Amino acid sequence: MAERIKMKTPVVEIDGDEMTRVLWALVKEKLLSPFVELKTEYYDLALKVRDDSNDEVTVESARAIERLGVGVKCATITSNEARQKEYGLRQLLPSPNGTIRAILDGTVFRKPIQVSRITPSVSSWKKPIVIGRHAYGDLYKSSEMLIPKAGKVELVYTPGDGGGEKRLTVADMKGPGIVQGIHNYDESINNFARACFIYAIEEKLPVWFAAKDTISKIYDGRFKELFGRIYETEFKEKCREAGISYFYTLIDDAVARVVKGEGGFLWACRNYDGDVMSDMIASAAGSIAMMTSVLVSPSGKFEYEAAHGTVQQHYYRWQKGEKTSTNSVALIFAWTGALAKRAELDGLPELLSFAKKLEEATLNTIESGEMTGDLARLAGEGNKKILDSWEFIDAVRSRL
Ligand code: NAP
Ligand code: MG
Repeated sequence: MAERIKMKTPVVEIDGDEMTRVLWALVKEKLLSPFVELKTEYYDLALKVRDDSNDEVTVESARAIERLGVGVKCATITSNEARQKEYGLRQLLPSPNGTIRAILDGTVFRKPIQVSRITPSVSSWKKPIVIGRHAYGDLYKSSEMLIPKAGKVELVYTPGDGGGEKRLTVADMKGPGIVQGIHNYDESINNFARACFIYAIEEKLPVWFAAKDTISKIYDGRFKELFGRIYETEFKEKCREAGISYFYTLIDDAVARVVKGEGGFLWACRNYDGDVMSDMIASAAGSIAMMTSVLVSPSGKFEYEAAHGTVQQHYYRWQKGEKTSTNSVALIFAWTGALAKRAELDGLPELLSFAKKLEEATLNTIESGEMTGDLARLAGEGNKKILDSWEFIDAVRSRL
């Protein structure tokens, strides 16, 4: 056997739960370790381990990404009462992805992996549409009130240093109704814009951003102003060098263009827009199992993962001895994304070329008709053979 490819800096490897944990080990054993002398700093985020460490291990894994720059993460269970019972947990812990994202102050970019066998529901789409979702504030940190009867609702701002307060009437309510207050921070919007341009330059994708500043002149207007300012002052020159553009439009115009266009851009979305549109893009593009996800921090740290969860139901069947047909493509691409990034940072052309070859072998396996059940359901007519997860990974291996 030829000598294995060597690495310089370790990748932060974050292990997880259930079926994705099973596939994680398999991908490493069959597709990575035979070719690469893997160097990783390993963190086990299995639910029980997180619980036993009072979630310290999650915080440590995020700090490791801050320190080393590149991580790859398996899907993890977000605990709830049912999981607490199932695993005998001492406490309910927050979502690990939320914790890691907050520490890195990162933005999540979701990108569909396209194969010719699966045609998007929108026939004009030729290239993937990547969604970057601002993950702080607005609706998701709002204060809301039921108004029981007529009365006045006001916005009141009291400066922390005791200066004069500001008041604004929201509504002179004539009867029962509802009211909501939302906020965001300049710094959060700036960091969102930074992460978007860092990712777009990396992927050579034009950036689209949209809001409703004609109606919301101050709130949405501020988003437009700050995003545009980060572009002008920090990224304009780098975007020009990368051959990409920045485009701002109204959100309704953006939606109309997305559906008529051919894709191939980064759609930077406000929190709510990203919540809604990422599900629209995922569903129209094909399968959630073909969606990758990258967390990018404003200082340029990267964490790669699959967008799907732990595929709980498949795991229970696997535990009973069934060989499930769980799709490992997004997990494979999480690894290739991380290794390619590491290769780029450390100047390792062999590692970069290995990552590209593994991606090609994976896609060619599907194009040739060998695929897992979720894809077979979408792949339309033509020759296809449904493989279980183990057979699929072997098929990729033999091409590799
Ligand atoms: P899920 O794991 O994404 O699975 C939902 C369904 O989507 C599955 O039942 C399966 O459908 C299909 N699916 C997803 N990934 C697939 C794959 N790789 N191959 C084939 N089919 C796939 O979502 P969930 O069941 O809502 O969540 C399960 C657990 O994952 C939860 O505990 C949640 O907290 C966690 N989660 C973690 C992350 C993360 O760490 N990033 C993200 C989301 C959810 P069929 O059953 O029809 O085959
Ligand atoms: Mg959503």
